[in-house]
Amino acid sequence: MQIAGTICYYCENKISFDNDGAYCDHCRTTYHRSCHDGKPTCPCCGMDYVTPESTLRYFKSCYVCGLKQNANTKQCEKCSSKTYAEDNIDHENKIRQIKSERYAELTKVILYFALIILTLYTMLGNPTPVGFLFLIIAISLSRWVYRSFHKMKIYERFLNQNSPH
Ligand SMILES: [Zn+2]
Ligand SMILES: [Zn+2]
Ligand SMILES: [Zn+2]
Repeated sequence: MQIAGTICYYCENKISFDNDGAYCDHCRTTYHRSCHDGKPTCPCCGMDYVTPESTLRYFKSCYVCGLKQNANTKQCEKCSSKTYAEDNIDHENKIRQIKSERYAELTKVILYFALIILTLYTMLGNPTPVGFLFLIIAISLSRWVYRSFHKMKIYERFLNQNSPH
């Protein structure tokens, strides 16, 4: 959660840096760590205060490179990507984002296969210049499609391991 720029519930001054701030996981009220200073409950809603760290949700695999993650690591060893969500809401947003990226990659692959079919169709019987043009485009895009497949595999693994079925 973005804390910097919000107003402290105690002193009503702006919180300049995320690291100086804390927030209530129940009502989302923000305050300076120094103003809150270890009080057991939230001054706004009265619920038990939980430290921001305890709301973190760690991913079981990296959504960029696919590497399996050890418990409670904040960064992927291989590609340095962030491997945790701030809280449940952030976690859900990440799952939604990866789902839509997987869908985008799938769309690219489907378009590519449509191009292949079109190429074969124009090349059957008598090859035409248009057919050759399609063929050249299809060949030059093959690497790009390979990358799409690779990304889809990583996203698939991420979604299988991090979202409930
Ligand atoms: Zn304050
Ligand atoms: Zn609260
Ligand atoms: Zn990674």
